[in-house]
Amino acid sequence: MRILVSNDDGIYSPGIAALAEVASEFGEVRVVAPDVERSAAGHSITATHPMAYRPTRISNLTAYRVNGTPADCVALGTHHWEGVDLVLSGLNLGFNLGNAMWHSGTLAAAKQAVLFGIRGVALSVPAGVDQDFESVKPWIRRVLEIVIAEPSLTLVNVNLPRAPRGLLWTRVSVRQYDGRIVPTTDPFGRDLFWFTVKPLEAADEGTDRWAVEQNWISLTPLRLDLTDELQLSAVAQRRPLDRELAAATSPSTSSPEAAKAVRAEEAEAPVER
Ligand code: MN
Repeated sequence: MRILVSNDDGIYSPGIAALAEVASEFGEVRVVAPDVERSAAGHSITATHPMAYRPTRISNLTAYRVNGTPADCVALGTHHWEGVDLVLSGLNLGFNLGNAMWHSGTLAAAKQAVLFGIRGVALSVPAGVDQDFESVKPWIRRVLEIVIAEPSLTLVNVNLPRAPRGLLWTRVSVRQYDGRIVPTTDPFGRDLFWFTVKPLEAADEGTDRWAVEQNWISLTPLRLDLTDELQLSAVAQRRPLDRELAAATSPSTSSPEAAKAVRAEEAEAPVER
């Protein structure tokens, strides 16, 4: 099995070395990660300049550093290494719970894998976990055994508390957004602002945040299709819009010309027409 390991803390983070070492027990490992920390980069990609892919060395593993985002690293990593079966992202130094999934570069690397048809798993540990990771490695091993044995799970977000009691399947804690602005000033007295996070409500039972609060390892199966199926069927019933006209006049599969025209409109600069 070919396992690509990435992260958003940067290729020289001790967390990625620990993850790559455990992953090596399960298959052939290659590390491709950002050359500097890209935490909270989300699922951004580098579209305005070309990127470098340079060999480096961590823990005696094949490794490459990229001056790009976690998603870029998965793109370049899978371009240079065919047949990747699994992308692991982490160990992020800091949890990725609840709404953090929208900002997390760690999870974005796993999501990018799924966009390429490859399984992706994001793993996060407490920011202050012991530096040699010896206490978490047995739990990482257990998590990988479980996730690899469940091939129908294409995307999993894993958070490991400091002293785990065991493992639980969880859902995302989305009850209350936890972002807030903290004002400050620069040395000249001018206004500046931090966008930081603070949990606002108690987490619901069964969620990732609740599980970690109770010292359980949280494994959250995710999907990339954000369609609200309940709302879709309800509103399509209430307001069918032009469904009948579309059914009568639009083929179920667009012509290559129609598809090409839309792809051209997606590009920032016009491509060949
Ligand atoms: Mn990070």
